[in-house]
Amino acid sequence: MKDRVLLKDKTGDFLGFLAERFEIVAPVERADAPAEFKELAESDVPALDGSKPMMTPKDYLLPRHEVLVKIDMAGGETKVETPLPEEKPRVMLCAWLADAQAIQVLDRVFLDRKFVDPYYSCRRENLVLFAVIPAEMRWSWFSGSVDDVETWKSSVDGLMYDLGDRFYIESTSEKGAELIASAPLSEASETDTAAKNKLWDAFKNTGLQPFAGKALYENLAWDDPIWEEMAQKCIACGMCSFMCPSCSCFDIQDETCGHCVERYRCRDTCQFEDFTLMGHGHNPRATQLPRSRQRLLHKFKYQHEQFGVVGCTGCGRCVELCPVNIDIREALNRTCVEPMEQKAEA
Ligand code: SF4
Ligand code: SF4
Repeated sequence: MKDRVLLKDKTGDFLGFLAERFEIVAPVERADAPAEFKELAESDVPALDGSKPMMTPKDYLLPRHEVLVKIDMAGGETKVETPLPEEKPRVMLCAWLADAQAIQVLDRVFLDRKFVDPYYSCRRENLVLFAVIPAEMRWSWFSGSVDDVETWKSSVDGLMYDLGDRFYIESTSEKGAELIASAPLSEASETDTAAKNKLWDAFKNTGLQPFAGKALYENLAWDDPIWEEMAQKCIACGMCSFMCPSCSCFDIQDETCGHCVERYRCRDTCQFEDFTLMGHGHNPRATQLPRSRQRLLHKFKYQHEQFGVVGCTGCGRCVELCPVNIDIREALNRTCVEPMEQKAEA
């Protein structure tokens, strides 16, 4: 199947073609806030080029607040409702590739063989996924350091490379190929393909770190002094987890109003003190040190051991947004690369 090209001034035709077949989910700009993934209304203008900060696709697949069960006991009668999202064909456009790969991590948690989360599954099943490679890389990205990003292409159905006045559209699955074969797109020229290859190389090499290729899951040390240093700085605000495309922890709460009860889930994080607080008062992670350590060991070691995927995809949000400038790239270099270099010198 040949790759194809979408001229940006024909984007409306392409979206119209998709809208006849799918619910389109794409980032939409908001006033004074980063673009957010949502189901497109007719009046929405999606931000397709991936050039600006974005909320993660996780916010669509696993909303920040989601009612799981509603119980209404009005008039002595008990009604129980489970408001599952509608199952319908969806296409998600223009997630950063790091965020699309993070969906693989979420899938391991919510579509596990032993337990399928029905709320997540309703949005995720039948989702066709096209990721974007923007014209300019962000300074904080380091995807090529955490994994072989070539393998990530199999996590999506296609890629949209921003080549200025056009998107180069590459299909990476049968579903993706079928879709772009029938879509109103132009044939890609050799010049387009060369420009696409150049952009892909730029993405692969962005933010390469000394720890790249160092199999972090084998080398991260439980007792490294770096965890204490991170803990001393961390104010436990939770930003790094809430904005992470692959962090999946949630809490479940009940809200009562007279004769109604709503059971909902909302974000939670291992960075909060009460995250591991048990009913009888014991807290196995009672200080910030084990909490800071848990965040990195879970992403780079435990998730790899458990699921065979790296839990961090190098999207850089936690690097950009931490209010006290904790940069996990520095921590990973300190804990893995420096000891290896010292051993080699000895
Ligand atoms: S964003 Fe920074 S300060 Fe906030 S919990 Fe994460 S590491 Fe700690
Ligand atoms: S860079 Fe930070 S926010 Fe992004 S995937 Fe890795 S841990 Fe999560």
